[in-house]
Amino acid sequence: MREAGRIVARVHDALREMIRPGVTTAELDARAEAIIRAHDAIPAFLGYPYTGRNDFPATICASINEELVHGIPSPRRWLEPGDIISIDVGAIYQGWVGDSAWTYPVGQIDEESQRLLAATEGSLWAGIAQARPGHFLVDISRAVENHVTQHGFSVVREYTGHGVGRRMHEEPQVLNFVRPGAGRGPRLRPGLTIALEPMVNAGGWRTRVLSDGWVVVTEDGRRSAHFEHTIAVTEGEPEVLTVL
Ligand code: MG
Ligand code: MG
Repeated sequence: MREAGRIVARVHDALREMIRPGVTTAELDARAEAIIRAHDAIPAFLGYPYTGRNDFPATICASINEELVHGIPSPRRWLEPGDIISIDVGAIYQGWVGDSAWTYPVGQIDEESQRLLAATEGSLWAGIAQARPGHFLVDISRAVENHVTQHGFSVVREYTGHGVGRRMHEEPQVLNFVRPGAGRGPRLRPGLTIALEPMVNAGGWRTRVLSDGWVVVTEDGRRSAHFEHTIAVTEGEPEVLTVL
């Protein structure tokens, strides 16, 4: 999983350098796929969920501005100055999965978008800091939610983080908010690997799915950000796997 995570991190490093006005999301996708395959890995999203009916057609999810997640790359969709773009990418290396998302500014972005990106990334790190043996899963969820609400933004409720390992989506589901009455969740143990991925809206938390069956947008049309790392609970500090 460390190696799968490193490959995903290499993709993010390369795409970060490519992001500028005029680049298309299809160009970003092609670069991501080339890097993953050059490392003898497989794009984890391509063809997901492998049912043969409206499977995801690309290596990355590229979601711009009011798009939250699951944006489909296109040669007709290019970045504009002031956009924010969330790129989510997964790789499978020798049967093990890495999964990481990041939201990038395109040139100069407005002040609210800057705060949205900072608060969402901050909530990811606040959640990671709770991923210690003896804590419960809800401690992660609470830390994420508190960080977001303290900054005046909304946590998306319909999409969540997840366990990850041999498959991209495993138990447990990792909520980014505390669901009243849902209990503490499992106690965290060394060896647990999860993808922690707050999705945060500038406005309200509600979302809807477009008619293509994939792209998720905010219901109120305001912007959304998404930051994700795959991490491992260890005996001590949590280990972030989707880094170089
Ligand atoms: Mg992801
Ligand atoms: Mg994920």
